[in-house]
This record gives sequence, C-alpha cells and structure tokens, in this order.
Amino acid sequence: MSDDIRTKLGLRPVINVSGTMTSLGASIVVPEAIAAMAAILPQFVEINDLQRKASAIISRLTGGEAGFVTASCSSGISLAVAATITGPDLLAIEKLPETSTDKNEVLVQMGHMVSYGAPVDQSIRLAGGKVVMVGQATSTHRYHMENAITDSTAAAVYVVSHHVVDYGLLNLKEFVEIAHAKGVPVIVDAASEYDLKLFLAQGADIVLYSGHKFLGGPTSGIVAGKKELVRNAFLQNMGIGRGMKVGKESIYGVMAALEAWEKRDHAGIREREAGYLNLWKQTLENRPGVTALIEPDPTNNPLDRMRVIISPEEAHITAWDLAAALRQGPQPIIVRDHEVEHHYFYLDPCNLHPGQETVVASRLAEELDKARASNEIIATPIEDLSRHRFDGALRWPD
Ligand SMILES: *Cc1c(COP(=O)(O)O)cnc(C)c1O
Repeated sequence: MSDDIRTKLGLRPVINVSGTMTSLGASIVVPEAIAAMAAILPQFVEINDLQRKASAIISRLTGGEAGFVTASCSSGISLAVAATITGPDLLAIEKLPETSTDKNEVLVQMGHMVSYGAPVDQSIRLAGGKVVMVGQATSTHRYHMENAITDSTAAAVYVVSHHVVDYGLLNLKEFVEIAHAKGVPVIVDAASEYDLKLFLAQGADIVLYSGHKFLGGPTSGIVAGKKELVRNAFLQNMGIGRGMKVGKESIYGVMAALEAWEKRDHAGIREREAGYLNLWKQTLENRPGVTALIEPDPTNNPLDRMRVIISPEEAHITAWDLAAALRQGPQPIIVRDHEVEHHYFYLDPCNLHPGQETVVASRLAEELDKARASNEIIATPIEDLSRHRFDGALRWPD
C-alpha cells in the first residue's frame, strides 16, 4: 500500500469497476507500451518517419491503407472531418476552423449525438464542420439520409458506442451504402471497440480508435483507413492538429500496444474476468432486493459485465446510494453507474488488478449488510444527483 504512487501523491487508490474511463485514467497500460515509451523518451527521432512506422503497424492490424497516431479518438474525429473539408490544401488547413468552402456539412444520425465526456458534435464543429442531424432520436430511415446529402455534404460520421440509441437507426452497412452512392466519405468513431478490422471491412473510409482503452496503450488516438484521406488528416498537424499533438513516446507506445494486442491471450483474459463475475454473483446471491445478472457488452465486444439491480424497499438502499457508499472509504470502488436512475449499476471486470475482485466482493457485502441492518431505507432523492453533479468540477481546484 505504501508503495502505491497514488498514496504518495495524496490521491485516493481507486478500484475501477467502471470501464475504461478518461476520468479514472483510462486503462492499465500494458508493460510492452511502458517499456517502449521509456526506451524512446531520451532519443531524438524524425517524427514523420516514426509516424510512417506507425502507419505500417496500424495498416497491418486494421486492414487500412495507412494510419497515424494522434492525441485521442476525439481529436481523430476532428482531424478526419477536417481532411474531408480541406483535402490537401495547406492554406485551407491553416485557416480552419474557418472554411472557404460551403462543402462543410457533416451528417450524423440524431441517435448518435452522444457525449463521451464531451459532445461528439463539438469534435466536428472544431474542424469547421457544420453538423446536420439525420432522422430522429430513435429512428433514421433511408429517406432521411438520402435527402440530407447535398452538394454541401463533406462527410458522414457514424458512432459505435453503448451510448448510442441501439434500435431504429441505420446500421453501418446501410449508412455506407447511402453515403457512397453520392460520393460522401464515411468516418467511424470506434473509440471503444475491440475489433480493429470490422468497420473498415464494412466500408468505412476512415476509422478512429482510442489507444488508451482496450488496447492498453498511452493516451492517444489511432486513425486508419484510405491512404489519401488519412494523409489529408495527417496534414492537419500543420493546423488544428497542432493542439492535439502526440509525442514520440505516445506514437511508439501505441505501436507497442498494437503489437502486444496481436499476441495477447484474449481467451485467458476472458476466463479470468469470468472468474471475477462468478465471485461477485456468489457474493450477491440470496440477498434481499439484489439481482445480479451477467450480460454481454452491448456493442459485441468480447466482454461481459455484471448488472446489479437494487430494489430499495428490500435492500434498504438505492442503487445510487450504494454506488456512493462504495466510492467512500480507504479503497474507493467506482462502479459503472450511467443508468443508475433505473435502479441498477454495472460492475466491469476489465480494468482490475488480480486480487481487487475480492475487495469489490467484500465491500459489496459489507455495504449491503449495513443497509439491510438499518431501519430506514437509505434513499437520497434522485434529483439531488443531477443537481449536484458538477459541484466538484465547478469548485476545482479547490
Ligand atoms: C471514449 C470515446 C470517445 C473519446 O475517445 P478519446 O480517445 O478519449 O478522445 C469517442 N467516442 C466514443 C464512442 C468513445 O467511447
């Protein structure tokens, strides 16, 4: 415990059963990436040559013609959109986000207009794109998209995420078919997806991944796809991309993480995670007001999570008060609670160090026992959550 860098820094030693969250430090960086970053940090390199090497590895793993590394998936979206607006025009690249063309509209299905910590449409607007929403929140029909495409359309952005509406919308193949029929390039935000080939294989022209999510690389974004488009996105580093730059360590770190991904024992990891889920299921079994379900990832990543449903009358605590209780104490446990108003949260097993699963199990048992023993139901009004959500951020750095 005393060796823990977080304790030395005066930070809380959180246990992450939430997922790969930027707000918690994303993921556990794989040893190969850490070693790569340490090896290259003291050396000078020609960055564009290093990015050429990255391009080769990204191509091999994604099936794209070319690729490069940027600061984040979010910046990847901006750079890809910028590429479709400016092409290789270096002066137009310098002028962004002001555009000297009317061809700057970017289509997004309304059901894809989500926030991943910042609004997806802002990453488009930053690049001079004008967002055109297609369809309604829970329905996009072909005619919506066909009619939205005009001479002003520069690109169409498709978001793959558990946050998007998962029914009633156009799937990627249809989205690509309609866009390509009118010569519109398709940009896919696949930040949090395991499958590095699928979206390009389904016809996307350019795809963006986060380096720091499942790949376990340093904080970064991976851009991959058609060579010309990727090159035009790369050229944005002389424009809006400057503020999104990555250093040699992140480029080389991602290269190492990608190569490690190829060799990773995916089945073994899945098995270990299944063990965690089973332990938690046993812990939660036969507790009044608690239902524990093992559920697959909504976007088909090879990952199961545990949905913990809490009935406050029987458990004597709400799901959000239980989540808050787990966040307290010397070993704070952060659960996945973005749908907590529906009386459940998730436990995500993919970012645990071995041994932490038992801490999670015993803390769950402890808090549930305590609530059950209390005469009153612990039930903070749900409205208080939204009212106070940003209090901490608005007080920062105090
Ligand atoms: C995480 C995420 C992002 C943002 O990725 P960063 O690399 O952190 O910028 C964008 N889109 C989706 C769908 C995400 O899940």
